Amino acid sequence: MTNPLYDSLFGRYAGKTTPFLHLPDGSTVTHDGFLCMAARFAHVFRDAGVAPGDRLAVQIEKSPQALAIYAACVQAGIVFLPLNTAYTAAEVSYFVDNSGAKLLVCDSSSQAALTPVAQAAKARLETLDADGTGSLSTLAEMQSHSFPTVARQLDDLAAFLYTSGTTGRSKGAMLSQENLLSNAETLVDYWQFTDQDVLLHALPIFHTHGLFVASNVSLLTGGSMIFLPRFNLDQVIETLPRATCMMGVPTFYTRLLDDARFTTELTGHMRLFISGSAPLLADTHVQFETRTGHRILERYGMTETNMNTSNPYDDERRAGTVGKPLPGVELKITDAGTGEPLPDGEIGQIEVRGPNVFQGYWQMPEKTAQELREDGFFITGDLGVIDPQGYVQIVGRNKDLIISGGYNIYPKEIELVLDDQPGVLESAVVGVPHPDFGETVVGFLVAGDDADPDLEAISTTVGESLARFKHPKKLIVLPELPRNTMGKVQKNLLRDEYRLLFT
Ligand code: ATP
Ligand code: MG
Repeated sequence: MTNPLYDSLFGRYAGKTTPFLHLPDGSTVTHDGFLCMAARFAHVFRDAGVAPGDRLAVQIEKSPQALAIYAACVQAGIVFLPLNTAYTAAEVSYFVDNSGAKLLVCDSSSQAALTPVAQAAKARLETLDADGTGSLSTLAEMQSHSFPTVARQLDDLAAFLYTSGTTGRSKGAMLSQENLLSNAETLVDYWQFTDQDVLLHALPIFHTHGLFVASNVSLLTGGSMIFLPRFNLDQVIETLPRATCMMGVPTFYTRLLDDARFTTELTGHMRLFISGSAPLLADTHVQFETRTGHRILERYGMTETNMNTSNPYDDERRAGTVGKPLPGVELKITDAGTGEPLPDGEIGQIEVRGPNVFQGYWQMPEKTAQELREDGFFITGDLGVIDPQGYVQIVGRNKDLIISGGYNIYPKEIELVLDDQPGVLESAVVGVPHPDFGETVVGFLVAGDDADPDLEAISTTVGESLARFKHPKKLIVLPELPRNTMGKVQKNLLRDEYRLLFT
């Protein structure tokens, strides 16, 4: 193979008019049509002086063209760097500067704001809008629809993906061709994807979930995707009858469950619903099964590693767990202090090793050395425990661990109790500074529809079910929890805002 990732995901469909993307307007992009689009972009990039190994950043809306830029980069050996569409010009400036990107593609609505950013970073700027038009497409129109694929090795970099920034500033994870390809191969097998699958794709494509897990799995099998610009409840419900499977973040599923049109009849034909990126509440899992008869398959991964664990396809999908390590992925639970493995059943830091684990953080050698051990194990920053059947349960992030009066407190344990209380939709528990205990526990609650949770009664129940040092010193009702675009609760914002509560 000359370019393993390109050949496996894209090149094999040359000349094939099989459907690849079904669009909301009823039109279809075929596999070959998609490849031609990508080849034209690859010519534009090469003409612009973007060489193999250079970075190309995009901050654009989801569209077939946007996905074709990913394919073009792989074909031209360019490192693809997609950015969250919610980032401001100041944030984009950091990423473009930090990555040394040669070319930035943006939406024409942000062209004015990003022109000085591109100039300062000596990057060229082109535009691409949600409808596929823009300066980049104009340049591409004149190009040939075939491009000589640039030879690459499995250990060459394919993408920089910046982490979601849930716990601090986003870090650029360097991902090789092998990181992406090995994980896609594993997932296709594990989740039994075939060319008959039609994947409902409503996720963003600047994040590992929508870009690599969803798109690569579909591309590797030759199936098709119902490619929606974003999660729109009406569109999802309307297109579900034509899908065989769906991938989503937990909020997709809670929003579907909130809609009366989401029924057994609507989902009877579906093969698989997959959830990840944030914890799926056990309650959502149960409600989903009651409503549809389907058990959601929850899996666990991250920008730096693609997917690490998954609930089984055929065996029990266990609510509240993220399943077992995927084939080829080693996972161990270690003591945060000593790094030594802990026996099953004990909570510790989750470490993983395998062909999926990234090559390090871009230009952050110290951070890379702290988190990526010499023996190849990556310290994920998540805390977890393995049950006797080998299922992994995530109890929270290392950074969210609360140490109060010398005791370790895992927020998840308290959140599970709070979530179960009458009138409570969901909760988040964080530690804030406390003069006597160092840190103490605060519980944030979101009320269910029209509910008015009785905080005193909740305190009493929590008091009865958890040891005293775990009791929240204060319960606070919020209209909603702060979340980033991937639906992740930003506990650092809560910690910051309430840091003076007891001081
Ligand atoms: P940053 O590293 O910048 O703080 P982030 O860790 O949120 O941001 P991502 O790489 O997008 O950035 O997310 C990976 C994290 O998402 C995991 O480390 C884990 O904490 C969480 N996660 C992913 N899937 C699940 C899941 N099924 N259950 C619980 N948590 C999950
Ligand atoms: Mg992270």
